[in-house]
Amino acid sequence: MTEASNAVPRTVLRGARLIDARGDHGVHDLWLAAGTVEGVDLDGSADLEVDAHGLVATPAFLDPHVHLRVPGQEEKEDLVTGLGAAVAGGFGTVVSMANTSPTVDDPAIVADLVAHAARLGLARLRPAAALSVGLAGERLADYAALQAAGAVMITDDGIPVADAHLQRRACEYAAELGLVVQTHSEEPSLRQGGVMHEGRVSHELGLPGNPAEAEAVMLYRDGMIARMTGCRVHLAHVSSELGMRAVEALKELGAPVTVEVTPHHLTLTDEALRAFDPVFKVAPPLREASDVAYLIDALNRGVVDCLGTDHAPHTRAEKDRDLLEAPFGLPNIEVAFPLLYTRLVATGQVTLARLLDLMQAGPARVMGWTEPTLEAGMPADVVLLDLDAEAPVDPAAFASKAKFSPWAGEVLKGWPRATLVGGRVAYERPR
Ligand SMILES: [Zn+2]
Repeated sequence: MTEASNAVPRTVLRGARLIDARGDHGVHDLWLAAGTVEGVDLDGSADLEVDAHGLVATPAFLDPHVHLRVPGQEEKEDLVTGLGAAVAGGFGTVVSMANTSPTVDDPAIVADLVAHAARLGLARLRPAAALSVGLAGERLADYAALQAAGAVMITDDGIPVADAHLQRRACEYAAELGLVVQTHSEEPSLRQGGVMHEGRVSHELGLPGNPAEAEAVMLYRDGMIARMTGCRVHLAHVSSELGMRAVEALKELGAPVTVEVTPHHLTLTDEALRAFDPVFKVAPPLREASDVAYLIDALNRGVVDCLGTDHAPHTRAEKDRDLLEAPFGLPNIEVAFPLLYTRLVATGQVTLARLLDLMQAGPARVMGWTEPTLEAGMPADVVLLDLDAEAPVDPAAFASKAKFSPWAGEVLKGWPRATLVGGRVAYERPR
């Protein structure tokens, strides 16, 4: 560890506009040394000089919700491609989900993930572990052992926990250990076989619908269990106005819940399904324009705690099946910031400070981690953003194995130009 730290080059990012949770600090040289932020406008020689004129330097993003498909589903994604996609998107830390094959319900798997990721020099990996053994919804996993191995969150994400008593016991156990429980809140018997949002469009297309009520009912149950157990419960990917209103009621009642929204639920609607393209098939489903507007409003009112991408890669072959058969999920971690910057910030709907908070301090607060800033002594996890240059989304150039995107060809600005993790350049965008 000491040797590795010594080997980190002293780096200066010349002429960057520095922005962090404390504010916009103007244009300075940002110095990084020994894996941490050293200070601004310092003297001396650098091992590495980076020309950052015209770019914003800000703490690398944190994502509490990614599917890296390891172990066992490496045809969809692996640690090199998944963590490579993360740094290409400007993320320095990600929390990986446990719905793999085998599931992450064994401390040895958690330890392997942490050790393997640490060798790659890409984004930092903090794994989540399964709530129930095998994600079967029957028996609790051994959270103490999983936490000791490095797990930072407990979740059966991908599969809703149908049994409320099991959810209660999971929350009681996790609360003792100070672990966050994350939910995939969709009431399974109400959601049934829905492949898209239940509404006018699903009726017109004749496709089985998944109503927003299925989300709202389960969010309310999960929030009530948080309140009764005192467990910190993170409500993942809230997608609907009804769901967000349930969250607001839970917060008013003092439930210790946090809430996440995704880039796709903020930018797409169920109208996209008219093309019958399974790339738009996600769970929870894309909702109506009024839901999207409500999510953006909730975000501006401070109800939403953080953004989570729910980056969910699949093979092209799987996504080329018909809408009824194709799996749920889409890759988005490489476009998350430029997409939201272009659609929400550049259009004046959301401030840059708010968007950054949702991707930096917000997820840190959710996880109980130190909020990232550019202050001296903080980890040198920094992203350089180009807020002006425009470029189209090019899925063929994704680091992710999932080389398709709902936003393919869309011209965006706000692309990460480089991402540094622990003071080392983990990603540089090709010019
Ligand atoms: Zn989920």
